[in-house]
Amino acid sequence: MNSLQQARSQVLDQIYKACQEAQRNFAGVHLLAVSKTHPHQAIREMYESGQRAFGENYLQEALDKIEILKDLDIEWHFIGHVQRNKTKHLAANFSWVHGVDRLIIAERLSAQRDDNQQPLDICLQVNIDGQETKDGCQPDEVSDLVKSISTLPNLRLRGLMVIPAPHNTQAFADARALFEKVKTEHAFPELWDTLSMGMSSDMQEAITAGATIVRVGTALFGARDYSK
Ligand SMILES: *Cc1c(COP(=O)(O)O)cnc(C)c1O
Repeated sequence: MNSLQQARSQVLDQIYKACQEAQRNFAGVHLLAVSKTHPHQAIREMYESGQRAFGENYLQEALDKIEILKDLDIEWHFIGHVQRNKTKHLAANFSWVHGVDRLIIAERLSAQRDDNQQPLDICLQVNIDGQETKDGCQPDEVSDLVKSISTLPNLRLRGLMVIPAPHNTQAFADARALFEKVKTEHAFPELWDTLSMGMSSDMQEAITAGATIVRVGTALFGARDYSK
């Protein structure tokens, strides 16, 4: 095994153990490999060890990689902040967008998704622990946003995405509670199945609280180098 394969099997092992401890089904937790800043060669290598879902944060970097790796059957997730003027590229090139936090963004993604493509899977990003960031809607806005967004064509509103401060177990529990509350209000509750939370350092806590997608970068690819 090479080092990326080894890292992946260690992370899968951690997920497996966290599932066992939480008495959850391992098949209910998906590993999203966060490849931002890492070269396309690393993604290809990770792909060869069986990984299919990859997450990117920066649009231009992502588009370059998508083009270079188009021979692979990768499911691309956009997990960065969604700017209004970037929605067209997101709608055209990704399977998932995790950072939707305003109605206008969802409306644009829906309008710009090609009818011939599968619906775009999206998560609503919530600022669950009141951080001083512009990203994420407020928890009390979620109900209304879900009502409006869940009826848009060409989208499937799958659940919530949160990025709380590391190891904030309470925030994970709050996200889970909000997720369960919204399920009762969603126009298509059977589609509401995703809680995107937990990263390299706190995926275990996130899984305990009910995460269905953990977004893992460092534990798979090593530390990121932002100098380039
Ligand atoms: C970079 C990033 C991750 C991965 O973080 P690691 O700590 O490297 O696992 C996960 N989610 C989001 C939104 C990110 O921006």
